[in-house]
Amino acid sequence: MTAHLAKIALTEMQAELRDQAMKFCGEKSPVSKVRALLEDERGYDEAVWAEMAELGWLGIAIPEDQGGLGLELADVVPIAEAMGKHLMNSPYASTTLAAQAILHGGSDAQKAEWLPKLSSGTVATVALFEPSGAWELDAVTGETKTFVLNLNAAEIVVTTVKHDGQTRLALIPRDTIEARRETIIDETKRSYRFDVPEIDAIWLMPAELTSAALDRIELVANLLQAAELSGAAMACVDYTVDYLKTRKQFGKVIGAFQALKHPTVDAFMGAEGARSLLYAAATHVERQGEGEIAVRMANAKAGGALSYAADRSIQFHGGFGFTYDCDAQLYRRVAMFAASQFGDAAFHRARLAELLL
Ligand SMILES: Cc1cc2nc3c(=O)[nH]c(=O)nc-3n(C[C@H](O)[C@H](O)[C@H](O)COP(=O)(O)OP(=O)(O)OC[C@H]3O[C@@H](n4cnc5c(N)ncnc54)[C@H](O)[C@@H]3O)c2cc1C
Repeated sequence: MTAHLAKIALTEMQAELRDQAMKFCGEKSPVSKVRALLEDERGYDEAVWAEMAELGWLGIAIPEDQGGLGLELADVVPIAEAMGKHLMNSPYASTTLAAQAILHGGSDAQKAEWLPKLSSGTVATVALFEPSGAWELDAVTGETKTFVLNLNAAEIVVTTVKHDGQTRLALIPRDTIEARRETIIDETKRSYRFDVPEIDAIWLMPAELTSAALDRIELVANLLQAAELSGAAMACVDYTVDYLKTRKQFGKVIGAFQALKHPTVDAFMGAEGARSLLYAAATHVERQGEGEIAVRMANAKAGGALSYAADRSIQFHGGFGFTYDCDAQLYRRVAMFAASQFGDAAFHRARLAELLL
């Protein structure tokens, strides 16, 4: 079943989107801007978000008859990768996830109302995590949700609720929710917790689609996360290599020391491996069964690659100043927060063992 999972078919469109997104994110998200936004309550630049909507990035994986561009989910990957590379926070992943949840789990009326809006820049998010960290159907209590990204900016929240004893998905208007901001390790992101309000039956998504929509959310979340982590791993390696080529110690640049070269090569190989698996995942994501395998492989690899590259980078910057001054800490935090979301590398490997062995 998995013999051809190694195939990577980056289309011309994806290559173009990648170039465009890398340039855009590089210009709009220099590290000075990333650091300035750490202090900002919203955490992202609304003008830049409006530009992304203008570029059509929000409608990529939404069908044309629902107001989108009607491209593939794979075409979202180069954009998420570029955002990860430039540590650019935005509600892109959360809005894309909500759109996919509505597309695969919403009623016709819900699709008609929300997909054109999300495609043109309305922010949305998903709220799945219980305070225990679980998100599976049978774990849902319908009481409190945590790790809800960009909730403050969202107009609508796709969340799991309990209704007549059944776990259902619902589209909850943001203004019915009282949110509390959470302190999370990745300071570029904004995360919130809320107590689920009383559910109006009109918010419910069709019961028979709940399970498939949740599977879709998990698949898309892991794909977008693999893209973010893979982009960040590449950037972390570049950042570290630049430093190794400029910092002088004991009469030479520190990159001349073998003890620093070898782990740097490992970090580079990890980041390149993650990129290959990411593009393989983009190629196979829509194939029944194989998509999940490819996405979990990409996520597991990217999480490990970024963690390793960022750990080495922090070590190599020893004697440089406080950790907070060193951009490597920003990348390390991205990896740590991601691991707390839809599973860390060990979790995905355990699932892969079930799927492959
Ligand atoms: C390339 C290189 C090679 C070296 N080789 C040797 C060697 O062979 N032998 C030797 O004896 N020494 C060596 N040194 C020097 C040695 O690394 C430092 O003397 C030693 O690391 C100092 O350790 P430290 O824990 O005091 O601080 P650091 O190693 O500078 O700090 C460790 C980490 O903690 C962070 N940190 C420190 N204080 C705080 C704080 N208050 N809050 C938050 N974060 C903080 C730092 O930012 C850093 O990320 C080398 C240094 C370099 C750069």
